[in-house]
Amino acid sequence: MNQAQPIVINLPSVDLAYLPTPLEPLPRLSAELGGPELWIKRDDLTGLATGGNKTRKLSYLIADALEQGADCVITAGSTQSNHARQTAAAARVCGLEPQLVLFSPTGQAPEDINGNLLLNQMLGATLHWTTERAPYAETIQTLAAALQKSGRHPYVIPYGGSNAIGICGYIDAMDEAAEQMADVGRFDAIVFATSSGGTQAGMLLGMNAFSQTMRPRLVGISVDEAQESLGARVSSLAQSGAELLGYAGPIEAPEINDDYLGGGYAGVGPAEREAIRLLAQTEGVLVDPVYSGRALAGLIDLIRLG
Ligand SMILES: *Cc1c(COP(=O)(O)O)cnc(C)c1O
Repeated sequence: MNQAQPIVINLPSVDLAYLPTPLEPLPRLSAELGGPELWIKRDDLTGLATGGNKTRKLSYLIADALEQGADCVITAGSTQSNHARQTAAAARVCGLEPQLVLFSPTGQAPEDINGNLLLNQMLGATLHWTTERAPYAETIQTLAAALQKSGRHPYVIPYGGSNAIGICGYIDAMDEAAEQMADVGRFDAIVFATSSGGTQAGMLLGMNAFSQTMRPRLVGISVDEAQESLGARVSSLAQSGAELLGYAGPIEAPEINDDYLGGGYAGVGPAEREAIRLLAQTEGVLVDPVYSGRALAGLIDLIRLG
């Protein structure tokens, strides 16, 4: 067997997630689709303030913030950002103050406060509204400068928690998944939602946890961006992670499918609705409409296409 060069993460991390998350079979969904055997890795169950994939990244990012002596954390996302909500909770767990830059089309808080936005209020995050689009770099920098000027020590976490430090959380996730999957057998593919790209970049580096013969295809279903630009970002994130960790081995090119952009970011259409209902009604598992619901709709369509 071809033994890959192992990646060692020698960075501080804080314990924020319930790990390992379960790897569960989906027998009723598989039967309903008359397709291949399907399993689900439950990273919705990481636990922190209702969970999600950003928690693994935040274990490394918040540890770095603490090491740098930060007193507050800045990050950014859309109005209903899962990443912003998990960052606010992670900051609170570690005694840091959350400062969130949130996008809305009007640059103001919407009238209807619900979902993650309501949770951000409950977590006591300070909210800064912007009309700037992702990655919100200008608004973040302006806010960081203003906080510094008033004597604060802000730590900036980029959009999606996707940088060299954050992606280490998904190198860990692949170590964890490789072990769980080996108990089941060989998997052909892992299909997942990809957007800011850090999850996919970490997964690419984490492929080293699989022996050559056990490697699944990694199929990122793009949520909101064309394959070329997202692919370039994922590759560059993986490269920056490799440099940070002193890994000089090969990194596979990212595989991204942008056939399922539907109604654009957070535009919930018939495909997402069908996928979410199908999983709920066959397995009792609930997925979100923006990311996992769209990736599942893509997976279902790919199965139907054979
Ligand atoms: C953020 C998010 C993703 C995408 O992860 P990236 O690292 O931004 O590509 C997928 N699923 C859910 C539920 C998310 O919140």
